[in-house]
Amino acid sequence: MLKVRAYPDPVLGRKAAAVRRIDKNLVRLVDEMFETMYTEKGVGLAAPQVGESIRLCVVNCTGKSDGEMVLVNPVIVESRGEATDEEGCLSVPGIRSKVTRAEWVKVRAYDLDGNELELEADGLEARAFQHELDHLNGRLFFELLNDAGRMTIRGRLKTLEERFTKQP
Ligand code: ZN
Repeated sequence: MLKVRAYPDPVLGRKAAAVRRIDKNLVRLVDEMFETMYTEKGVGLAAPQVGESIRLCVVNCTGKSDGEMVLVNPVIVESRGEATDEEGCLSVPGIRSKVTRAEWVKVRAYDLDGNELELEADGLEARAFQHELDHLNGRLFFELLNDAGRMTIRGRLKTLEERFTKQP
């Protein structure tokens, strides 16, 4: 199992580098990321969350094996609408907030065979794609909150910051 990095670990604030090669190590990393995501009960996990600053994420909104999606070097090429819903993040434990995002997105990415994929999503899946892609640009979900929203979580963020400085 991989260790999930928690805010304010600096790797979470970095812009991740493009994946240049799909090799055995990358395939193994993807397997371990799925395993970690299921154990932690998440619907998505981005490589920076396990300390790898590369543009790779995994998503599974159904929990079934055919719901598994691997996105290598993903980009959002189109988005529409607006939707607000509660969101959390394995790297920001104990905090959930209502976040407004696009309601529908089209994402272009590569799979582990190097094939280009084009995925259209709405609902939870669209939210997960946007959340995970933000991780690749060093952005965490609470950065999308307005001032009032941030005020409500300030205390908990501070607790995470203190916990981070105390860890061995
Ligand atoms: Zn997250």
